[in-house]
Amino acid sequence: MSEVTLQNATKRFDSTLAVDDVSLTIEDGEVMGIVGPSGCGKTTTLRMVAGFETPTSGSIRYDDEDVTHVPPENRNVGLVFQSYALFNNMTVLGNVTFGPKMQGVGQEERRERAQELLELLDIGELGDRDPQTLSGGQQRRVGLARALAIEPHILLLDEPMTGLDAKLKQTLRKELGELLADLGVTTLYVTHDQEQAMSMCDRIAVMNDGVVEQVGAPSEVYESPANEFVANFVGTSNLLEGSISDGRVDFGFAQLDAGGLPEREDATLAVRPDDFTVGEGPITAEVRNLFYLGEKVQAIVTLDDGTELTLELDRHRDALSKGDTVTLDIDATHVHVVRQ
Ligand code: ATP
Repeated sequence: MSEVTLQNATKRFDSTLAVDDVSLTIEDGEVMGIVGPSGCGKTTTLRMVAGFETPTSGSIRYDDEDVTHVPPENRNVGLVFQSYALFNNMTVLGNVTFGPKMQGVGQEERRERAQELLELLDIGELGDRDPQTLSGGQQRRVGLARALAIEPHILLLDEPMTGLDAKLKQTLRKELGELLADLGVTTLYVTHDQEQAMSMCDRIAVMNDGVVEQVGAPSEVYESPANEFVANFVGTSNLLEGSISDGRVDFGFAQLDAGGLPEREDATLAVRPDDFTVGEGPITAEVRNLFYLGEKVQAIVTLDDGTELTLELDRHRDALSKGDTVTLDIDATHVHVVRQ
């Protein structure tokens, strides 16, 4: 296993600055997620770590070794890419034993290792199958087994669950999360799906426009977003302008107990949809829309001054309908200042 360090890594394609001065350390054995919107530079960052792209400036290190100019085949990385197809002229077992064979691992040992991985991924019985006859979820598992078979120092996953149905994603997310935690391989996990990253990664780096906006544990990034972009990208936030003085926060439409927020004359505050209490409080709003999201219900409400808020409701307790008037309170102990 290795620690991976990107130091001031920058990648320019002609006029596009895909990755802009990124410094990031993935600790030995850590699962680091990179999340961000399409085109923000996630894949380019991962490709630099893998060796498929050479940084325009800056460096990549595995432990103390500078690998910036080392080709991918000499880096011992396991790769699972969206577009990284399985070898269709080989069986599943052939796919998984291919890497170790190239590494010179003996036949018996590589077959044993491959079978063990297939069992671990719950596809032990598929060794003799032709990959083309497998379901999408089974193919992803084979891809993962193939990446892990070379006993990589670093595992790089780029949108490994794209194209799978929601239920399978959920199952794989749990299994893959547990597997990664057990294996202790240093892992970089690229996805635009923040829920996947939040549930599977030890830390996540939120990227926007080639820049890393924040790095932290999922709870840290969710609870204390560094800026408006992160507050909006990771989960949903209501971004409200307010001023905080004398232990009170003034949102214009309501004055509330500041709950320990620092004094600020003019701040943007991020209020999560579940930081509202419905049923009592100094805010009056009208319910505009309700979205049933399975276990939760999201409500869009508007205030008299036109401010629109997104709330999360308790499916059982807060039975509301469109057009209802509700009173609300905000739990200021969870509110976070994202701009001052
Ligand atoms: P997605 O989630 O859509 O895969 P991403 O965050 O992974 O996006 P990248 O693929 O890293 O984003 O691309 C970052 C920027 O660099 C984009 O503007 C993209 O068009 C550009 N880019 C990436 N690869 C190349 C290339 N080989 N040549 C030119 N521009 C490129």
